[in-house]
Amino acid sequence: GCSVEGVVAALRSAAEVVTAHRDELVELDRVIGDADHGENLKRGFTALVSKLDLSEPPATPSAALKLAATTLISTVGGAAGPLYGTALLRAATSVGDAAELDAAGVAAALRAALDGVVARGKAEPGDKTMVDALTPAVAAAEAAAASGSTVAEVLSAAADAADEGAASTVPLVARKGRASYLGERSANHLDPGSRSTALLLRSFAESAG
Ligand code: ADP
Ligand code: MG
Ligand code: MG
Repeated sequence: GCSVEGVVAALRSAAEVVTAHRDELVELDRVIGDADHGENLKRGFTALVSKLDLSEPPATPSAALKLAATTLISTVGGAAGPLYGTALLRAATSVGDAAELDAAGVAAALRAALDGVVARGKAEPGDKTMVDALTPAVAAAEAAAASGSTVAEVLSAAADAADEGAASTVPLVARKGRASYLGERSANHLDPGSRSTALLLRSFAESAG
C-alpha cells in the first residue's frame, strides 16, 4: 500500500522529473504551442515542493493530493494548470479518508483524475491531448489492479500505457487546446501534455517501486 509519506515522496519525485524535463517540454510546446509547458509545470511543482518543505506535512493521502491540486491550480496557469489541478482534486476526493492506498484505490484515483480532465477540458481520445496518454493509462491500471498487482505494478503498467498513448499523438491533428489553431500543421509532432502525463506517471511508478 501507499501511505501519506509515499504520496508526498511521489509528488517530490514528480517535481524532480518535471524539472529535469523542463527544456524537453518547452521544446515540444514551442513546435505546436507557445513554448511554456515545461516552464509552467516546473513553476507549479517547485511551488508545491516549497509548500511541502515549509508547512505542516499533510496528514492523509487525500490532503497531500489536495495540496498539490490547489498549488498547481494557482501557479501553473495555461491549459494544463486547471487540468492537472482538477485531476488531482478528483483523485483526492476518490481516495477519501483512507490512510493507505491499495492497488484498487490507486486505479480508482487515476480513473477519477481522467474523469476530471475530461469534464474540465472536454477532450476525447484522438484529440491530441493529455487524454490520449491518460485514457490507456487508466485502463492498464484497472486491469493490473484487477489481476492482483501491487501499487508499484499498477503505476508501472499505467506509465507504460501512457508512454504508448503519448507516442500515438504524433500523427494526430489537434482538436483541442492551442495546437488546434495550427490545424493540419499540428500533425507529426508529439503533444506536450501527453508527454508530461507519461513523465508524471513514470515518476509515480518509480517512487512507488
Ligand atoms: P497552454 O496551451 O495554455 O500554453 P500548456 O502549454 O501548459 O498550456 O499545456 C498544453 C497542453 O495541455 C497540451 O499539450 C494538451 O496536452 C493539454 N490540453 C490543452 N487543452 C486541453 C483540453 N481541452 N483537454 C485536455 N488537455 C488539453
Ligand atoms: Mg503552452
Ligand atoms: Mg501558454
